[in-house]
Amino acid sequence: MDAFIFDLDNTLYPASTSLFPLIDARINQYMHERAGIPEDRVDELRRRYWKDYGLTMVGLARHHGVDPEDYLDYVHDVDVASVLRPQPELAHALSALPGVKVILTNGSLNHALRVLEVLGLRDVFTEIFDVRLAAYRPKPYPEPYQETLLRLGVPGSRCVMVEDIALNLKTAKEFGMATVLIDPGNGPGKGEAYVDVRIDEVALFPDAYSRFARGKKWS
Ligand SMILES: [Mg+2]
Repeated sequence: MDAFIFDLDNTLYPASTSLFPLIDARINQYMHERAGIPEDRVDELRRRYWKDYGLTMVGLARHHGVDPEDYLDYVHDVDVASVLRPQPELAHALSALPGVKVILTNGSLNHALRVLEVLGLRDVFTEIFDVRLAAYRPKPYPEPYQETLLRLGVPGSRCVMVEDIALNLKTAKEFGMATVLIDPGNGPGKGEAYVDVRIDEVALFPDAYSRFARGKKWS
């Protein structure tokens, strides 16, 4: 493989840490306090915008005149260091993967930098592609994948993508990538044909990958 494309949130650290709920709460707070949406409509609109646009932010920009940059700064303003710890073994194992390692996240660059810094993974990745990469078009839309491959200068068939959201791997597979789902407990497998392998946590990826590289087949 030439490139390893990693999602950030709930992929490089487990969903069981309480980081994402902090961001979640900031999103609700933003919708009410900054965008002026009545509290009792926040949940419904959030669900609708997420469904219609793939990101709450895009709906807020379209229908409430929200500045995406203001939104990104606000919702990611959480104390990352209070819930994440350095992962030196993970840093070592990921660094040893034979190829370029990049981040592709629907979050912001600053958030990614803070998370990677606390985890001690900053030096593992040569690029961080955030939600600005394709003009706020998020995964699973094809644009950010296309742009990532363009920037890397490699075809999808030379890439592995590691993600905690299965649907985001569907697009990856359409681009010919090998796909790895982070699925703690390997929950009820839905048998998605576009998921090549499921692992409990990212720490298991390097081993899974070396088996794949030897046999050209995930096991
Ligand atoms: Mg994620």
